[in-house]
Amino acid sequence: MRLANLGGRATLVVPGRDDRGVDIAEVSGGKFGPDVQGLYDQWDAFRAFASALDLSAAASVKLDEADLRAPVPAPRQVFGIGLNYRSHAAESGMDLPTVPATFTKFPASITGPFADVELPNGTVDWEVELVVVVGRRADRVAATDGWSHVAGLTVGQDLSDRTLQFAAGGQFSLGKSHRGFAPLGPWVITPDELDDPDDLALGCSIDGETMQDARTSDLLFAVSDLVAELSAVVPLLPGDIIFTGTPAGVGFTRQPPRFLQPGETLTSWVEGIGTIRTRFTAPTGGRVAG
Ligand code: ZN
Repeated sequence: MRLANLGGRATLVVPGRDDRGVDIAEVSGGKFGPDVQGLYDQWDAFRAFASALDLSAAASVKLDEADLRAPVPAPRQVFGIGLNYRSHAAESGMDLPTVPATFTKFPASITGPFADVELPNGTVDWEVELVVVVGRRADRVAATDGWSHVAGLTVGQDLSDRTLQFAAGGQFSLGKSHRGFAPLGPWVITPDELDDPDDLALGCSIDGETMQDARTSDLLFAVSDLVAELSAVVPLLPGDIIFTGTPAGVGFTRQPPRFLQPGETLTSWVEGIGTIRTRFTAPTGGRVAG
């Protein structure tokens, strides 16, 4: 099952089609939707309802890229994991962490899968990531039960202002939370749709030039480990998201360093889930942070 946010309305993507969707409030007679975020609070009931639907018989609408918004638009908590691929830890010159290196991206930084994002300065970097969506409250969950608390997966970019990230002794959360710095989408897919949700190719390119190309099987802390490690500290709530970390190939560790420029388009994908595209624009004014 794939859940999209079409212009603010929860929409089921028609199986086998990337361009047609069924409005959930309409097809459920108002029982579920149209609010997207609220669906995660009633995920088990919604999944049972949705799995019994015959979408081929329902009235469908066109899924225009311009109308697709973030499929998790307002999570209560956003977790970001740093240094979760050996290759990225190595290129960053950092030791491998023994616990997940965790920060937040403030939820107001979330944007849609085909958005324009303003570059606040000249040191913004890319980080393609598999993003986990929590479907059931997880409080002190064992890793063996981790996946049962996951509603689905989506594609994310953990855009990072490296100047602000490393300022003042390090402030990852703010440096990764400029407006639009958390593109998500194009939809959330349930793990049962994937042959092996622990082994997915992922990558990104700038104007067609590949920057990152890896597999999630290389994660140091896999999805189920992250649910266990994080929920040992704080409960994970339905609709929360976890940016699981980025592999090698970011810009700031290159020689010379490379950063995103106005006019460039960043295309990011995870195998079996989909592709998002982010176009960057010049600063439009106001205080330039970092
Ligand atoms: Zn990241």
